[in-house]
Amino acid sequence: MNNDTVSQPTSIDELRDALLCCDKAVVVGNQTKSPLCMSGEPHTTVSVRGLSGVVQYEPSEFTFTAYAGTPVADVQSVLSERGQYLPFDPMLVRAGATLGGTIASGLSGPGRFRYGSIRDFFLGAKMILGDGTIVNVGGKVVKNAAGFDIPKFLVGCCGEFGAMAEVTFKVFPKPIDSATLSLRCDSAEQASQWMATAAIRRWELDAIDYHHATSTIYFRQRGPRDTNQAIAADMKTQYAELQPVDDVVAETFWSSINELDWHAPAAVIVKIPSTPRQFPSLCDAIDQAIPASLHVSGCGSVVWAAVESPDSLQTLETVLTQQSHRGLCVRGKAESLHLNRPSTTKIEMAVQRAFDPSGRFKRQFASHPHGTVSS
Ligand SMILES: Cc1cc2nc3c(=O)[nH]c(=O)nc-3n(C[C@H](O)[C@H](O)[C@H](O)COP(=O)(O)OP(=O)(O)OC[C@H]3O[C@@H](n4cnc5c(N)ncnc54)[C@H](O)[C@@H]3O)c2cc1C
Repeated sequence: MNNDTVSQPTSIDELRDALLCCDKAVVVGNQTKSPLCMSGEPHTTVSVRGLSGVVQYEPSEFTFTAYAGTPVADVQSVLSERGQYLPFDPMLVRAGATLGGTIASGLSGPGRFRYGSIRDFFLGAKMILGDGTIVNVGGKVVKNAAGFDIPKFLVGCCGEFGAMAEVTFKVFPKPIDSATLSLRCDSAEQASQWMATAAIRRWELDAIDYHHATSTIYFRQRGPRDTNQAIAADMKTQYAELQPVDDVVAETFWSSINELDWHAPAAVIVKIPSTPRQFPSLCDAIDQAIPASLHVSGCGSVVWAAVESPDSLQTLETVLTQQSHRGLCVRGKAESLHLNRPSTTKIEMAVQRAFDPSGRFKRQFASHPHGTVSS
C-alpha cells in the first residue's frame, strides 16, 4: 500500500511528535528489507535515518549505545578502530542496514553459529510507545538481570511494538585472523551429518554453512593463524576432501551471504527457520518443486531461498506448508510478508495492545485477512 507521506525526524522529541501526528505509522531505517516495511493500511512512513550516531562507546566495558538510525557500517568502523566487532554477522551492511532495522527484523548472519544471534548482543533500548511515552527497556551494561527482558522481545518485532530511538549492544574483541575451508558432499543429507559432527568436535568453528547448488560445506575458523592451521590439519584427518579457500575468495563468499546477494538480482529472498535434521529434506523438496537458489546457514538453523517469480513464491509456500515450515520474505518484490503465515497468538496481541493501545503501529494480524488467532 502506498505511503501517505514520509517524515524524517532528527531528534528523539521530533520522532515522538512525528509519531503522535499520524494515525498509522510505519517506522523504517534505510528500508533495506523492503517487504518488512510494508503495511496493509494507509500510513505515514517515519524514517529514523536522521537519528544517527554513536551516543556512548565504552571499549573497556565492551558496550556501545547508538541512535537506532545509525548505519551498522558506521558502528563497525568505530568498533574496528578499537579492535572490537559484532560477532553475529549483521546482514545487509553494505546495502545500508541500520541498527534499529537489524534488531526489528531479527537478522543474524553465519557468525550466529558460535556466538549467538543478535538477540544475545542487544542489551537495551530507548523506545517510544504508541501513546508517545518514552521508555527505557533493558540496560546499558552486560550484566543486568533487573526487570523483564523486554529487549529480547523486540528482536524480530518488525516495528509493531514501538519506535526504537536508541539501542545498546555488547561487543567482542575482533579475531586476529580468519580461515575458511570447503568440503564437497554427495547430498544435503551427507552435508547435514558432516556439519553436525563438526559442530560437536573441539574445533569451535566460527561458522558452518552449506551452499546447496554446489553441494559444498564452508567451515570458518577465527583465531591466530597458527591455531587455525593446526585446527585445519586436525579437521583434515576427519574429512580427507577438505580444501582451504583462498582468503580473498572466502571474504567474497561470506560477504555475499551477509549481503544476501549470492543469487540473481531480481529474486525474492525468503528466510526459512529450520534445524540440522530438517534442512536436507526441505532443500530437496524445494529443489524438486521450483527453480530456487538455496543457502543453509548456522549449521542448518536457517535456509535462505531465492526465487525469481511470483508463481515460484506461491509454490514455495505450498512446499513450506506441506513440510510445516514458515517463511519470511526479506528482500525483493513480495506481495506478502509471510509464507505459511503463523496464527497470531493471544499473548502477541495482548502485548501489542499494551505497548500500543491506540493501534498507531502496524499490526500484522490486522493487515492479513487470512491471519487467524490461536491461544
Ligand atoms: C547479591 C547478588 C547480586 C546480583 N546482581 C546481579 C546483576 O546485577 N546482574 C546479573 O546479571 N546477575 C546478578 N546476580 C545473579 C548472579 O550473578 C547470577 O545468578 C550468577 O552469575 C549465576 O551464577 P552461576 O553461573 O553460578 O549460576 P547458578 O545460578 O548458581 O546456577 C545455574 C545452574 O548451574 C548449576 N551450577 C552452578 N554451579 C555449578 C557447579 N559448580 N557445578 C555444576 N553445576 C553448577 C546450578 O545447579 C544451576 O542449574 C546477582 C546475584 C547476587 C547474589
